[in-house]
Amino acid sequence: MAARVGKLSIPVAGSADGRWIVTTEKMSRSGRGDSWVGLVGQHSSMRTPTQKLSSDVNAFTVRLKFHDDLTFFLKSKTTDGIIERHLGEKTSVKDVIESCGVPHPEVDLILVNCKPVDFSHSIVKDADIDLYPVRSRCLLFQERRLQVRSLMRFVADGHLGTLARNLRLLGFDVAYDRQAQDRQLLRVMEREDRALLTRDRHLLMHAIVRHGYCPRSQNAHDQTIEVIRRFDLSHSITPFTRCLRCNAPLQKVAKSKVIEKLEPLTKVYYKEFRRCTGCGQIYWAGSHFSKLQRRLEKIRECCS
Ligand SMILES: [Zn+2]
Repeated sequence: MAARVGKLSIPVAGSADGRWIVTTEKMSRSGRGDSWVGLVGQHSSMRTPTQKLSSDVNAFTVRLKFHDDLTFFLKSKTTDGIIERHLGEKTSVKDVIESCGVPHPEVDLILVNCKPVDFSHSIVKDADIDLYPVRSRCLLFQERRLQVRSLMRFVADGHLGTLARNLRLLGFDVAYDRQAQDRQLLRVMEREDRALLTRDRHLLMHAIVRHGYCPRSQNAHDQTIEVIRRFDLSHSITPFTRCLRCNAPLQKVAKSKVIEKLEPLTKVYYKEFRRCTGCGQIYWAGSHFSKLQRRLEKIRECCS
């Protein structure tokens, strides 16, 4: 295949001061040339001169190897997870990683020349960098992992409504507003210390995101399994304890206290009821219940 070499200015995602990494990207396979078209195109008016780099005597090269499913974020699926970057100045490893399209909350272990480092580590010379996700076959350096595993509070973006509903069905606390803008999602995430669930990788790259996950699948059932596995939730499932509408906890309530709100047949056939402590919605094991139970069992089977 034809090799291609290009010079690009790549925006530093989440960088409050708007800094840019100036790199050249050496593309070892055809097809990689399109990878940054969107980014460069969107910010062409902000592009800084890249000509300086070729004459910069301090330029150096880093070779990044993305392991396991981190390759999901790379544009080309034929690179074996390997990307080479040519840098012209001291750069944080977080910025180098994200310039490849991989959000920092997805990276659990960074090895620079086989030594574990954190996101603030600066790259100043040639280096080999290995990156591993949370669910990795690599079991090395467990004490130097960068992500928290067991989190039980989430905020889901507007495109993940069914995932949010599934997680609530399993008893998990998921803030969700279909209309929420990125800024609102980040605010709720920060204020309520929630992990951000979104398929928008650029949102996940925002500097204030501490915990987050990008579901790989577009299917809500599979996304639910992914989230349960990523955050070690399989032993924390408490079905039918949270309101599917508003996320507030449900409370058992005596039939006599809600009987006036029930339909005639419901009054006759059902004895046990739960009421939402937030919106007042009443729940009972009606005809819809068995469908929800089947969905729940299917999820549990996949997680066991
Ligand atoms: Zn409710």
